[in-house]
Amino acid sequence: MADTASFLGTKELVCPTCEQLLREPRIFPCGASFCKTCLPEPHERSEDITYPALEKRRKAHHCRVCCKDHAVTDCGTDVVSSSVMKVINDEIQQSTLINNNDTVLDRLSKILRPEFNCPICFELFEEPVTTPCGHTYCQPCLQTITGLCEDFSCPVCRQSLTLHGKPFLSPYPENRVLAKLISLLCPDELEARKETKPEPTQEEIPVFVCATAVPSMMMQLHVFEPRYRLMMQRALDGNREFGMTMYDPRTQQARSTGTILRIVHHVILPNGNYVIAADGTRRFKILERRVVDDYLVAKIKPFGDISIAEEEALEARETAGDSGSNNNNNSAAEATTVTGGDTAPVPTPTTTTPSRLTNTTPENIREVLDSTSTRDLMTFAFGSAIVQNINDSSMPNPDDPSKFTWWFANKLRDSARYKFLAEKSVRGRLKRCCERIMEIERSGTSLWVYRLHSALRGFPLPISTAVLILFLCLWMS
Ligand SMILES: [Zn+2]
Ligand SMILES: [Zn+2]
Ligand SMILES: [Zn+2]
Ligand SMILES: [Zn+2]
Repeated sequence: MADTASFLGTKELVCPTCEQLLREPRIFPCGASFCKTCLPEPHERSEDITYPALEKRRKAHHCRVCCKDHAVTDCGTDVVSSSVMKVINDEIQQSTLINNNDTVLDRLSKILRPEFNCPICFELFEEPVTTPCGHTYCQPCLQTITGLCEDFSCPVCRQSLTLHGKPFLSPYPENRVLAKLISLLCPDELEARKETKPEPTQEEIPVFVCATAVPSMMMQLHVFEPRYRLMMQRALDGNREFGMTMYDPRTQQARSTGTILRIVHHVILPNGNYVIAADGTRRFKILERRVVDDYLVAKIKPFGDISIAEEEALEARETAGDSGSNNNNNSAAEATTVTGGDTAPVPTPTTTTPSRLTNTTPENIREVLDSTSTRDLMTFAFGSAIVQNINDSSMPNPDDPSKFTWWFANKLRDSARYKFLAEKSVRGRLKRCCERIMEIERSGTSLWVYRLHSALRGFPLPISTAVLILFLCLWMS
């Protein structure tokens, strides 16, 4: 059998465990492939991962190629390679043509070519990548569909590839088995495909320079400036989307990170002004700017959060070697076991505030937050008196910490909210929430007074004094 491996002359088609040509390969997130029967035994994950803490992600395979643990659910069947490798293995076993490589390659090329078509573009795979459900697409094709919205499913089997808008894996592993086979069996077509590859087009959107909008949250706007009324009219005639970012007085131009808003409701007032309700969707970075009819139009690169697998790795890395957190976790840990299952990503925060977070000082706060589990950060933030006192029906369910961070950011003043925007991890944003809550608690004010106080800082002194006096009068009456 050693000959059969060298026959196709490539290590990519050989299982790292049995060193034979792959049979029914499973693909790992690092891109390594193993025969189904050669998979390492799954073991309970040792890292203390509390977000998303899905029961089905608790088990991992240790990978002998990259020496890391991969959650079992991220190590999928590889549908196309399984069928292709079966044909190759059968051919080789029946064939007496091992000494006549050209004939075998020609024959395999004819039989296997239909297997190498992407289900999105129906052309030869270009940079094939495989999702955890086992289906393969061209990397650019998959990027196009995943860039359209935050929640998406596999186009072939409809299995959800995200949790609360975060992909389980990103990027998806390059399918080295298929990439190698295509280069061996369809070299001319591959070459032609590379030559006709279209230049990636950059998305261009109109940008409303006004305030900081965040994903998942609704924004109400009263649009009265003629240039922005024109922008709204054009958005309503088109795909109903526009970008939103805030003005930077230092650089005297729009800030470089923003959020795409989709118009949900609109009313045109008799004077021609618009009242708009728009939903925050994806975030973007501005790459290039130009001015059209007096408003900003920008070439952008949309971005989202890091994947669930990276989120888990981040928590494991930051809390590693921290013995203190385990003791504080007990109450919440019980809640996980009770609710369990795939539908309970994060336990409902208990009323017990993680004690490590109640004894912070401005000096040690960063260190304490870094070593606190994601679940404890959520428990602290969600259970804090400030958050609980906000009587707001839009408060998200505590099992969606990502949405919670956006909801919380939406309560802050513009520039504080802007700092949340570039943060690509739920954990990172939760740490910001906790830090801000502690800051408000230390100052002894309620969130609303804090907001008023912060908002007034932006106004000239006479106005802020007048508003303060008015506020005090109202309060005393
Ligand atoms: Zn094997
Ligand atoms: Zn690996
Ligand atoms: Zn494709
Ligand atoms: Zn699928």
